[in-house]
Amino acid sequence: AIEIAGLRKAFGDHEVLRGIDLAVAAGEVVCVIGPSGSGKSTLLRCVNLLEEPTGGTVRVAGAEVTDPDADIDAIRRGIGMVFQSFNLFPHLTALGNVTVAQRKVLGRGRAEAERIGREGLARVGLADKVDAYPDRLSGGQQQRVAIARALAMGPAVMLFDEPTSALDPELVGDVLGVMRDLAAEGMTMLVVTHEMSFAREVADRVVFMDGGVVVEEGPAARVIGAPEHERTRAFLSRVL
Ligand code: ATP
Ligand code: MG
Repeated sequence: AIEIAGLRKAFGDHEVLRGIDLAVAAGEVVCVIGPSGSGKSTLLRCVNLLEEPTGGTVRVAGAEVTDPDADIDAIRRGIGMVFQSFNLFPHLTALGNVTVAQRKVLGRGRAEAERIGREGLARVGLADKVDAYPDRLSGGQQQRVAIARALAMGPAVMLFDEPTSALDPELVGDVLGVMRDLAAEGMTMLVVTHEMSFAREVADRVVFMDGGVVVEEGPAARVIGAPEHERTRAFLSRVL
């Protein structure tokens, strides 16, 4: 589970997150929507301390990330993150990409890392691409390798920051399909997305952010289908 309370983040004088309260229960999928600059990426980045919050607390799987004495490397190992850009190592095959952190960070032996890596690549529909280098994979395939790489670490939660927005439209569906399967298997997921149909179908809850605050949240059908706030309505009228 992820528990965020009173989360604040300022860059200089600019307060980007202004007191965010948000919980994702174990096995729950929460989608975060909102306009550009509303603080969605900063929120995700505060969850695994890629950004250091200026206030509030974040707990992931029971551990307080924001505790100054926290073992942040250990906590990060339990958090999978998938970004808009896939950031695969170009000199490693798909299998190499999904095994390198298992070996270097978790200390797994080659055989075990490769077994888990192959399973992970099969899970994202890429069993036949284990030996392919990133430049021979489509954007959607590369993003699925990035998801397999995160899953291979055995994370307690997965964070996704617009994982499909860099993809050609015809490649989006495969990546969303993998995420849908992951959700169905009970993964705890916090997903920033502009894919409203995905949010509607897969999210247990949708959170609309604007100006560094949560404007409204609730079941996807209500927030997207019958938003209560004018700002949510205005945003949805632009994206739907
Ligand atoms: P988008 O939909 O475009 O990805 P977002 O909701 O993810 O937007 P953030 O990337 O979280 O928004 O940015 C929120 C605000 O914080 C923006 O005004 C941005 O310029 C500012 N910001 C983000 N990172 C930094 C940084 N490292 N230094 C200064 N300002 C930053
Ligand atoms: Mg962003």
